[in-house]
Amino acid sequence: MRKMNFAAGPSVMPMEVLEEIQKNIVDYHGKGLSMIEASHRGGMFEEMYDECLADFRSLLSIPDDYDVYFLGGGATLQFTMIPMNFLLKGSHADYVRTGSWSNKAADDAAKIGDVNIVFDGKDGNYTSLPDPLTVRPSEGSSYFYLCSNETIGGIEWQDFPDTGDTPLIADMSSDMLSRPVDVKKFAMIYGGVQKNLGPAGATFIIMRHDMLERRNSGLTAYMDYAKHAKDKGLYNTPPVFSIWAVGLVLKWIKANGGAEGMLRNAKEKSDYIYDVIDSSDFYRSPVDKRYRSRMNVVFRCPTEELEAKFVAESQREGMIGLKGHRSVGGLRASLYNALPLEDAASLAMFMKEFERRNG
Ligand code: PMP
Repeated sequence: MRKMNFAAGPSVMPMEVLEEIQKNIVDYHGKGLSMIEASHRGGMFEEMYDECLADFRSLLSIPDDYDVYFLGGGATLQFTMIPMNFLLKGSHADYVRTGSWSNKAADDAAKIGDVNIVFDGKDGNYTSLPDPLTVRPSEGSSYFYLCSNETIGGIEWQDFPDTGDTPLIADMSSDMLSRPVDVKKFAMIYGGVQKNLGPAGATFIIMRHDMLERRNSGLTAYMDYAKHAKDKGLYNTPPVFSIWAVGLVLKWIKANGGAEGMLRNAKEKSDYIYDVIDSSDFYRSPVDKRYRSRMNVVFRCPTEELEAKFVAESQREGMIGLKGHRSVGGLRASLYNALPLEDAASLAMFMKEFERRNG
């Protein structure tokens, strides 16, 4: 029986996509060749890649003055590439510290240049965000950086700050295409694909073209966004398998209502779980209600022993990935796009039943 997969990433894939890959893995649409054997300079790859990029653009209405492509190295490589390119000499960059992922990005940037911390959620144990209506970039900042959804802490920006002329850069690894995004607000959006978009390997980059004019010079080839933008990510060999699968996932998203459809599903799934938490004295959510993530629902039981029991018993029911990240403990249900509605409903039922037996 197929598991109900609540893992934080790599994570659940749409069944239709897995089957499509299975059908074509040996012989790609009768071409006598697998996509993962084909040259990234050849027509077979190019055709698939162009379609993938076009679908990505149309799903998010990405304007023409943005470059879109995929890189390797995970989202983590971007923690370094962003300041190397855009943290201009003699200037500083604004970072919002809201949890593990933005903290890692800020820590890496601080090794490269001056970082100004606009907000640090440390005192509140990273359970809240600054008010997007009032938080602003500092004078002379090279860019303003945030993580739209903290995968480990389970907090998600619902609105984004207006940063005026200061480029806004966002890590959207874990909520990309789970809702519509006004790309024009951002100078750059990036993320690993291994949550909402496909199997690990590729990192998507959406970048306003004029950013290349305000980057540092003297960068080595791979570190230089201009090299990648010039050849839509084909400066070097791209993660072909991952990109192929992302292309199929994007078609699946299109067929299922696009970003709006994903948002409807994300609301329904997360409501199942938050409703159980809110109507119970047994479970609690540490996260500020205003910024609760629809992708990663973090919750606690009264004791760590009960949490361990929850994990063990849920596994016996075919539910995997519910243990919280090792750095914070507790429980976490990741409800990415491909997670069926029924699986979220099953988890909600299991939670109620577990409370009845242990509350
Ligand atoms: N940012 C966020 C929000 C993440 O969730 C993750 C991975 N879980 C990363 C960055 C790092 O991604 P990668 O492992 O692809 O480097």
